[in-house]
Amino acid sequence: MTDQELFTYAQKACEKAYAPYSRFRVGAALLTKDGKVYTGANIENASYGATVCAERTALFAAVLDGRREFTAIAVAAVQPDGAYASAPPCGICRQALSEFSDGSLRVLYGTPQQLQEASLGSLLPQAFGL
Ligand SMILES: [Zn+2]
Repeated sequence: MTDQELFTYAQKACEKAYAPYSRFRVGAALLTKDGKVYTGANIENASYGATVCAERTALFAAVLDGRREFTAIAVAAVQPDGAYASAPPCGICRQALSEFSDGSLRVLYGTPQQLQEASLGSLLPQAFGL
């Protein structure tokens, strides 16, 4: 699977976002080591703290399906005006992803025309661990 294909999954997941408050729709596509893709979208709540990001909905769906080894995640974000935003995962999602990655997880984000890439380890160099 190419990076662009994985990003396309994230773009499609954006359409399922529930974002009536921010109108900032985010989709994520998480690629397992064996090539399966799990998608997620942000799900907001009137009690803002109950909101969940796209990256974590994808991660939780994958883990619930028995997957724990991942190679890449793509994140697509669409602003209220319909333009793509370059949005790497937030701190909470970086930490959540680090539970299942040694830091080598490839993180793809940006726009369809200009994908950016970073390793999870570079985005979260000192992840919390017990
Ligand atoms: Zn997040």
